[in-house]
Amino acid sequence: MKSVTLVSGGAGFLGSHLCDRLLLQEKNVICLDNFQTGRRENIAHLIENPGFNILEHNIWEPININVDQIFNLACPASPIAYQKDPVSTIKTAVLGAINMLDVAKISKAPIFQASTSEVYGDPSIHPQEESYWGHVNPIGVRACYDEGKRCAETLFFDYRRQFEVDVKVGRIFNTYGPKMQIDDGRAVSNFIVQALTGADITVFGNGNQTRSFCYVDDLIDGILAFDACGPVATPFNLGNPHEVSVLELAELICRYTKSNSRIVLKPLPMDDPTKRQPDIGKIQKLTGWSPKVTLEDGLKETIKYFQRVV
Ligand code: UDP
Repeated sequence: MKSVTLVSGGAGFLGSHLCDRLLLQEKNVICLDNFQTGRRENIAHLIENPGFNILEHNIWEPININVDQIFNLACPASPIAYQKDPVSTIKTAVLGAINMLDVAKISKAPIFQASTSEVYGDPSIHPQEESYWGHVNPIGVRACYDEGKRCAETLFFDYRRQFEVDVKVGRIFNTYGPKMQIDDGRAVSNFIVQALTGADITVFGNGNQTRSFCYVDDLIDGILAFDACGPVATPFNLGNPHEVSVLELAELICRYTKSNSRIVLKPLPMDDPTKRQPDIGKIQKLTGWSPKVTLEDGLKETIKYFQRVV
């Protein structure tokens, strides 16, 4: 019998790419989503696949289900989306983690947690390695997500210690690619949509803050490589260490879209991290994985996608 894999947040940006890949591996996939930020278009092409099932459910609510494996990706992840309803965000992160961990415990199934670089907050060490405990404002506007995901990590390692659940925690850094939402509010999606429509490109602050962007196919490869390893006792970073400033990103997107849009500076949102770059030495050593797609190639693919949907 085929094994059953539960993907919570399976209709989201990363979740839907992961569902595609698991189906290619001949798994039966249950895509659990409440469609708050997940979208039916992302999984429309999978509906006819006999190995694919949709379970419309809010992971704050307990669920009684038996599966062979779990990927917990359910949570709004863009700052605009997660700050819209912060109480829902933290409930999704924390209660969702508890409910998914309970399914893992009862099913005796391994579980992957999509954690985040946001656990490092506005980091005081650079690049960020997993041993760094982070620098998060617990009462700021980003805390619903950052602290929610930090608490989820605590829960994952407590379920491991207390109930011997086989957990894997991947700290996912900024990821981009096809299926990002037009109105996601992210730098990559905003800049591409603005460049394609001739609108002003809105760089927040002076644009000197940095991020390191990973193409979605690379990131999914990383998750699957991590998943294929034996049990691990600590979190692992997943991302692309190629670091750029937000202003450089805006300029690259202008160049690749041949846009005449102007770059304009707008106020920097509260608690916006000044720099971010993953140290991926640990996951490379464990799995041999490293990202392959250059920022130029990845952006060009993403631009092609947005040209179709804008
Ligand atoms: N950003 C920007 N203009 C935008 C959207 C985002 O300058 O229209 C900046 C944002 O302030 C941050 C960086 O780009 O410094 C990355 O933002 P994003 O929302 O993509 O991800 P984050 O890493 O903040 O979660």
